[in-house]
Amino acid sequence: MRTVQLFWGAVILNVAVVWALFFTVAPEPKNAIHGIGLVLGLHAALLMILQLTLVARLPWLDRRIGMDRLTSWHRWTGFTLFWVVLLHPMFVIAGYAIAGHSTAWQQFLNLAGMTGSLVGIVALVVVVVAAGVSIRYARRRLQYETWHAVHFFLYAAVALVLIHQLFEFSAFTASPVAKAYWWALWVFAIGSLLVGRVAVPLWRNARHQFRVAAVVPESDDVVSVHVRGRHLDKLPARAGQFFIWRFPGYARWWQANPFSLSAAPDGRSLRLTAKAVGGASAALRHIPVGTRVFAEGPYGAFTSLRRTREKTLLIAGGVGVTPIRALLEELPGDVVVLYRVHRREDAVLLPELEALARDRGARIELLTGRTGAGDPPFVPFDPQNLAAKVPDVTDRDVYVCGPPAMTDAVIRALRALKVPRRQVHAERFSLAA
Ligand SMILES: Cc1cc2nc3c(=O)[nH]c(=O)nc-3n(C[C@H](O)[C@H](O)[C@H](O)COP(=O)(O)OP(=O)(O)OC[C@H]3O[C@@H](n4cnc5c(N)ncnc54)[C@H](O)[C@@H]3O)c2cc1C
Repeated sequence: MRTVQLFWGAVILNVAVVWALFFTVAPEPKNAIHGIGLVLGLHAALLMILQLTLVARLPWLDRRIGMDRLTSWHRWTGFTLFWVVLLHPMFVIAGYAIAGHSTAWQQFLNLAGMTGSLVGIVALVVVVVAAGVSIRYARRRLQYETWHAVHFFLYAAVALVLIHQLFEFSAFTASPVAKAYWWALWVFAIGSLLVGRVAVPLWRNARHQFRVAAVVPESDDVVSVHVRGRHLDKLPARAGQFFIWRFPGYARWWQANPFSLSAAPDGRSLRLTAKAVGGASAALRHIPVGTRVFAEGPYGAFTSLRRTREKTLLIAGGVGVTPIRALLEELPGDVVVLYRVHRREDAVLLPELEALARDRGARIELLTGRTGAGDPPFVPFDPQNLAAKVPDVTDRDVYVCGPPAMTDAVIRALRALKVPRRQVHAERFSLAA
């Protein structure tokens, strides 16, 4: 069974267990409204545990599902959590108010006077603020670091929810089975987070002692950084994957940026190639050789492990060429590369790609020009043009990495050409959007 099905199967199983425990061991709610409130509360806890697992960056899960997909699930789970967390106290308060023939405000004051409920109210406020900064409108206006810092408070919310649950939920303490079940879930989620986000990165960096070995300008605004370290042959990195890079001592330690490997790892060095789009990426050009590097990863499922066919089509747009260049080195069999740029001089790493293609007998085609220009308009990735360039596209795995509009156009064309979904693999260079 595929990992995605297995993962969601496990989630559904847990929802079923929570319902079973609610109906068997939890004491009777005051009324139906109160009961709905309690069920929502249990689901809020379950959603928080799911959130922790999705961001734990467990290598096993990340390699099979991909961090982009896990992050997108995390985003949707976050919004679901927001509504569940908001509705849970509303139903509980309404349930108590109906049962006690009093007002909702009176019941709210009663609950706010109890430690367990107060802790829950604080957790609710933190979740609401974090969800607020995650909506697209606010997200676009915030610096990445600010958005990330606000998100960090969610770890405090997790602790508060756990305390709230210990105080409040009769289902948690009603029976030894329920207690064991909830503790097992929390230990699993928090343990996964500590392993994936703390222990594995610290261990890998202590082991490999990464340092900048060379900085090579590729164009006016693109630079390659070569990184060396100890025992790199033991680092389980693959072509197509990325790391989250920090350069402590050179940049602020909390500044971390994801960049793909732009060459297949050879056991001796790693290479990233970055386009200057903001402060951190522009500063890479001036980084001194010998700078310490703290690299979290490897992450991502944009690798040859996803391959389902003998033949491959690689499509790169702009700096999206980085993982494509690495994949060209590693993928066996018949490979075609389409590389989309406005002008030939924008095509970074082109001489390397051409040399690799020559060595292994792959076909490479550079697609230059402005989309929509000319008569008929130049639309390189409409279904007809794509099929004309690669007539056997349906027999190939397609790996695409480029600007969002290009990636979307390619995926639409592949759908129109009936290329099965399992053969289409995209890296979107975005984790947070
Ligand atoms: C999986 C992945 C692989 C990537 N590979 C490459 C690559 O090989 N070459 C390349 O040139 N670019 C790559 N990028 C894009 C690169 O990460 C951003 O361009 C870079 O982080 C911008 O940082 P900045 O501070 O210079 O610019 P800013 O102006 O600060 O950031 C520009 C945008 O980049 C994104 N960004 C910034 N920091 C982070 C972060 N820590 N995590 C996630 N997103 C962030 C945000 O959406 C932000 O709005 C990749 C992105 C991802 C998610």
